[in-house]
Amino acid sequence: MKKGHPSKNALPTANSRRNFLKNSAALATLATTGPLTGFSPLAMVEQKPASSGINGIQIGAVSFVDEGVDAVLDILQKRGSINTIFLTTFTYGRGLAGRQIPGQPFPDHGSKDSDEKTFHGGNYATVHREFYKNTILQNTRATEHGNLDIVAAVLPAAKKRGMKVFCSVEDQWRPDVPGVKECAEIDLQGRKADTLCLFHPDVRAFWKGLVNDLCSSYDIDGILFFNERNGPLLNALGASHFQQIDSSRATCFCEHHQRAAKQQGINVERAKEGYQKLDQLVTASLRGERPSDGYYVEFQRLFLHYPEIIAWDRLFDLGKHEVLAEVYTAVKTVSKNLQVGFHIEHVNSFNPFFRAARSYEELATKADFLKVVAYNNCGGERYANFIKNIGSTIFRDVPPEELMRFNNYLLNYANEAPLSELATEGLSADYVFRETKRAIDGVKGKCLILPGIDLGIPTKANSRKGSPGDAYAATLAAFKGGAHGVILSRKYSEMDLADLDAAGRAIRESAKE
Ligand SMILES: [Zn+2]
Repeated sequence: MKKGHPSKNALPTANSRRNFLKNSAALATLATTGPLTGFSPLAMVEQKPASSGINGIQIGAVSFVDEGVDAVLDILQKRGSINTIFLTTFTYGRGLAGRQIPGQPFPDHGSKDSDEKTFHGGNYATVHREFYKNTILQNTRATEHGNLDIVAAVLPAAKKRGMKVFCSVEDQWRPDVPGVKECAEIDLQGRKADTLCLFHPDVRAFWKGLVNDLCSSYDIDGILFFNERNGPLLNALGASHFQQIDSSRATCFCEHHQRAAKQQGINVERAKEGYQKLDQLVTASLRGERPSDGYYVEFQRLFLHYPEIIAWDRLFDLGKHEVLAEVYTAVKTVSKNLQVGFHIEHVNSFNPFFRAARSYEELATKADFLKVVAYNNCGGERYANFIKNIGSTIFRDVPPEELMRFNNYLLNYANEAPLSELATEGLSADYVFRETKRAIDGVKGKCLILPGIDLGIPTKANSRKGSPGDAYAATLAAFKGGAHGVILSRKYSEMDLADLDAAGRAIRESAKE
């Protein structure tokens, strides 16, 4: 049994952070009955933030390698008021791991050499074989730092300082990893995709094995799980902010998916047929071939004729949420005091269809905390991309500026820049406040909300670049919205120290109120 993990019930889930701090009677009860380690009696009297909320930062192995474990922890603790490390432990993606991404300016610390050629990704901890017996995905060790086990290297130093450590785990792969081809999703035209099927038994066994390995092998505080993938309908429509629209690549139609569909009573052939017709409609829309009844009506008609299109999209969500539930159970099986959080991706903010497909309250039943992405600087560019994408298919008849204004009403965004200036202006700190409050209201006290704060997330050359003022305002706005803490994102290796200072100042000031 591990020590030092406050159990879910002992955390201030039902109250706002501030109310929790002021509720000294509840604190006294928790202190005597619950394992509230980290909430020292002294800290309670002083109402210090470092022991009340989770004020975290996402950071990858390379930063500790480049700058030294203690030196980095010193900076995070003293300048950023950070009390929790979200240590990138598994991913093949550069959003969480590696130095600054190619083509972007380096921040004011760390190595200035690009790791474009040496970056590999994978598991930055030791892979303990016995946890991966039921999966073909066995060779996932990250290779760029030799035999370094980043969890083993950081954990004791962080603990010594009273800092918590969570392992961040992300569903991002590279095609040359052994087993990836065998687990790949199959698209509408029978091609293998780069993504892994969430109904594939080896994939399920991998995620369970990985979190079991990390939680059993190290005295960590828990897991933050990332899966930013969308279902086939949103992908086909281009209803996201990053992607190129290619509706012929809608996934997944592999044998495991088909089996799951049959269990749900979904007609596989009808679903395929529906997605083929959707592909034709999207392709024609992108060419500007307007149906006689208009774009929206034609899409809506297709959904009415083929409800299997929606059902197949829901099936993807089912798989994704089953994986989340399995991760939660696997972690809690090791120790119920370990905490599990899920990263809630940016499209959850921009896209009303995505919002409708899940509920915060339901997500809260399988998480101790949700990291809700509320990145405002890069949010302008991303939201503009989202409007451009949906404005090229289903809403092609609507002038983009009006489409955005309408969407703003649906999303409860206010006073944001017009579409033409959105990328250069970014979204406001008020956006951070609104998205935090929506999440707080949505989970109804059933889990903690830790908004992801944008510190130097890369954007295109002419788009908004965050400043210390932005970092300060966004962090403050999250607390004003009722956040139980924050997670500075995406990774330390792309953040300027001046931004970290500003976020730290906001964390300290919020705690004094
Ligand atoms: Zn599949």
